[in-house]
Amino acid sequence: MSFFDYLVKHGMPWVPKAIVSRVASRYVAGESIDDAVRTLHQMNREGAMGTVDVLGEEVRERAKTERAVSQYLDLLDRIETEGLNANISIKPTMLGLKIDEDLCADNVSTVVDRAAELGSFVRIDMEDHTCTDATLRLYRRIHEAHPIAVGVVLQSYLHRTTADVADLLPLNPNIRMCKGIYREPRAIAWEDFETIRANFIYNMEKLLAEGAYVGIATHDPHLVWAGMAAVDRLQIDRDRYEFQMLLGVDSELRSIILSAGHRLRVYVPYGRDWYPYSMRRLRENPTIAHHVVRAMLAR
Ligand SMILES: Cc1cc2nc3c(=O)[nH]c(=O)nc-3n(C[C@H](O)[C@H](O)[C@H](O)COP(=O)(O)OP(=O)(O)OC[C@H]3O[C@@H](n4cnc5c(N)ncnc54)[C@H](O)[C@@H]3O)c2cc1C
Repeated sequence: MSFFDYLVKHGMPWVPKAIVSRVASRYVAGESIDDAVRTLHQMNREGAMGTVDVLGEEVRERAKTERAVSQYLDLLDRIETEGLNANISIKPTMLGLKIDEDLCADNVSTVVDRAAELGSFVRIDMEDHTCTDATLRLYRRIHEAHPIAVGVVLQSYLHRTTADVADLLPLNPNIRMCKGIYREPRAIAWEDFETIRANFIYNMEKLLAEGAYVGIATHDPHLVWAGMAAVDRLQIDRDRYEFQMLLGVDSELRSIILSAGHRLRVYVPYGRDWYPYSMRRLRENPTIAHHVVRAMLAR
């Protein structure tokens, strides 16, 4: 990352919201369910599957969690009626994790019950380290009733991930493995790029070798190659893993993975609450300054 990119990355909170919106629009399908459906049809036509996230997090009011549940129920029905090859991803703090764990579990159960009825699937995203234990508890609770219809996420930047993999393996889990996007303290998270990669590969291989379903979520070509090599070496069936990428990131890599014969799922977020998600995506964009300056000049 150039010095200029570094400056913009650390100055992002001061970039006007209108500019953030313009630059980040590639990462978000739009504000409405119709926008998400349009993007999913496009992904399906390209041969990719989808997972849809209704944007929103850190909700502190019960009424808002109820609204989120009904948005997800509508979304599941819409996916079904449109015949889309897609499932959903949820954020526990949008469904009440920071209000009350039982409330969150009830909300998530309602969504997963409906997904299971429809033969669909719910991925519980992993948020920052203040949520890790509660999210894994939530996953175990829901998994008891619906062992096939729910999965969770582990982050290779966390020291604890190898232990979490060992704890979850007896459940025959469905795990999305990613590096992790939140800023975490050094005491609990690796900072070195190569160590995070090594931890990703170690845990991905462990999960694959021991029978878990693995979502290999990365745009890092080194890890994509490691994933391809691992499924080949371990002779993992095509329906026991998938690659996953975010909307708006490296469509060329998407084609490379698909044309090599692997399944690939694109994470498609939509909704009005786009700002925190967009800021995280912009911060990890390696050429962020270029995009921000171009958007400012285009005003
Ligand atoms: C499907 C999916 C779901 C995810 N779910 C979670 C989750 O639940 N919890 C969580 O903490 N994290 C999640 N993440 C984010 C993940 O943890 C990483 O922060 C993110 O994927 C970047 O890591 P990377 O492996 O792609 O490697 P990086 O080294 O960050 O990126 C590799 C290359 O990808 C390109 N790239 C990456 N990001 C961008 C961008 N924003 N814009 C343009 N180019 C980019 C660049 O060329 C970069 O060099 C998810 C990621 C994916 C793909």
